[in-house]
Amino acid sequence: MDELLQRLRSEGFRMTQERLALLQQFRDIGRIVTPAEMHQIAQERGVSVGLTTVYRLFEALTKVGATVPFLVDGTIYYTFCDADHHHHVICMRCHRLTEVRGCPTYDGLPANWEVQGHRVDWFGVCPECQTDMQQAH
Ligand SMILES: [Zn+2]
Ligand SMILES: [Zn+2]
Ligand SMILES: [Zn+2]
Repeated sequence: MDELLQRLRSEGFRMTQERLALLQQFRDIGRIVTPAEMHQIAQERGVSVGLTTVYRLFEALTKVGATVPFLVDGTIYYTFCDADHHHHVICMRCHRLTEVRGCPTYDGLPANWEVQGHRVDWFGVCPECQTDMQQAH
């Protein structure tokens, strides 16, 4: 976290108590969120920052590679990502997100490519939502 704060500072993002609280909430939220959702959650938890600040934080986090955007039904959602290489599995119903540490194989790639990285995410329905959906029937 200290290193992240330093990188954010070097991007010209001025850290305040409220902004730090916002960053910590975003880090611990465990789901993908839009800036508007993050703003509302912060308000509900007593962190009074403006929506513009949420956008600024997400922009700064994007610059330092500590957040990843997801396009879901035409809306951009964000998740906090630490520096370790990982993947995600995301519930399309409740937007819960879990990090996945294992990497998929490179089977099926065209020959003679020098691969330098990959981005893989899985989308589906989490166990809790599956239970919810069964009970609703
Ligand atoms: Zn991540
Ligand atoms: Zn779910
Ligand atoms: Zn990987």
